[in-house]
Amino acid sequence: MSSNKYNLPKPFLKAIENDGYTKGDADFSATQIIDSPRISRMKHIYKDKVKKDYYDSIFPLLGTAVHHILEKNKDEDDIAEERLYMNVDGFVLSGQIDLQVKDGDGYLVHDYKTTSASTLTYNPDGKREWEEQLNIYATLVEESTGRKVNGIGVWAIIRDWSKVQAGRKEGYPEAPVVLVSMSLWDAQERMDFIRSRVLKHSMVEGIDDESKLPECTKEERWAKDKTYAVYNFIANGSQRKRATRVFDTADEALTFGKGKGDAYVIEERMGKNTRCESWCDFKEYCSQYKQIIEN
Ligand code: SF4
Repeated sequence: MSSNKYNLPKPFLKAIENDGYTKGDADFSATQIIDSPRISRMKHIYKDKVKKDYYDSIFPLLGTAVHHILEKNKDEDDIAEERLYMNVDGFVLSGQIDLQVKDGDGYLVHDYKTTSASTLTYNPDGKREWEEQLNIYATLVEESTGRKVNGIGVWAIIRDWSKVQAGRKEGYPEAPVVLVSMSLWDAQERMDFIRSRVLKHSMVEGIDDESKLPECTKEERWAKDKTYAVYNFIANGSQRKRATRVFDTADEALTFGKGKGDAYVIEERMGKNTRCESWCDFKEYCSQYKQIIEN
C-alpha cells in the first residue's frame, strides 16, 4: 500500500495502481537482466516491506501515457508494443519492443524513453544500459520472428527540455524529442552478452538472505569516485564559481594549480553512491550499503 503525501487526486492513484506492466510468461525480462542481480532479488525478498509514495510513480506514469498514445498512432507498416520471447539455456527471456520501423529488407528497433536533458547532455550517445537493452531486443526480434534488424535506437522524450537552453549550452539536445542511434553489436556478441546476464540472474534465484547475494558493482550503484577541483581567482580577488579543472587525484590537482602561477584553492569532492543514497528502495535493508557508509 502506497502513501499519498502530496494528496494526488484519485485519477492519478487509479492510473498508477492499474499500470499493468508484466514480463509476460517468462523467467526474466530484458530490462531485468541488464540491471543488478542483487537489486532484482531484493525486489522479491522485500516486496511487502518497501514503503512507496504515489509520487514515486509519476514519471513512470508519464512514460506509460506516452507509450499508449504513440502505439495508437503508429504507421501501418510498423509494429508497436510487440512482446517477444526466446529460450536462453533453458530460461525464457522476454521483452516488449516499443516500435519496429520497416527499413528496406528489415526493421529498425526503437525504444521510447522519457528522460531529462542532463541525461543526454552527459550521455550524448545514450546510456550504456540503453544500448544493452536495445541489443537484447534486436536478438529477440531476430530469434523469435526471423525478421532482420538493420539498426537500433532510442527516441528520447525530454521532459524538462528548454528552448532557451537549446543552442546555448554545449551538448544540450536541440529538440524535445531526439533519436539517439546506437551501435548494433554482431549477433554472437549479443548472444554471449544475453547468456552471461541470464546466468548471473539465474544464480540469485531462490536466495532469500540478502547477505548471500552478489554485491552491486560500481556501475550498478551509479558510483562516482572522489575528485579534486581546482578553483582560480578573478581580478577582484574573489574565487571563480566554476572549477577551472577537476582531477582524479590530489597530486594532479596540485601540479595543475601550481603550474598556472595564479592563486588557487583545491576543493575535495567526496565520492558518491548515487543510486544507494537517493534511488534504491532497499538501502535500509542492504548490508553492502551499510558497509559502504561505515567505511
Ligand atoms: S543500496 Fe546500493 S548496494 Fe544496496 S542494493 Fe541498493 S544500489 Fe545495491
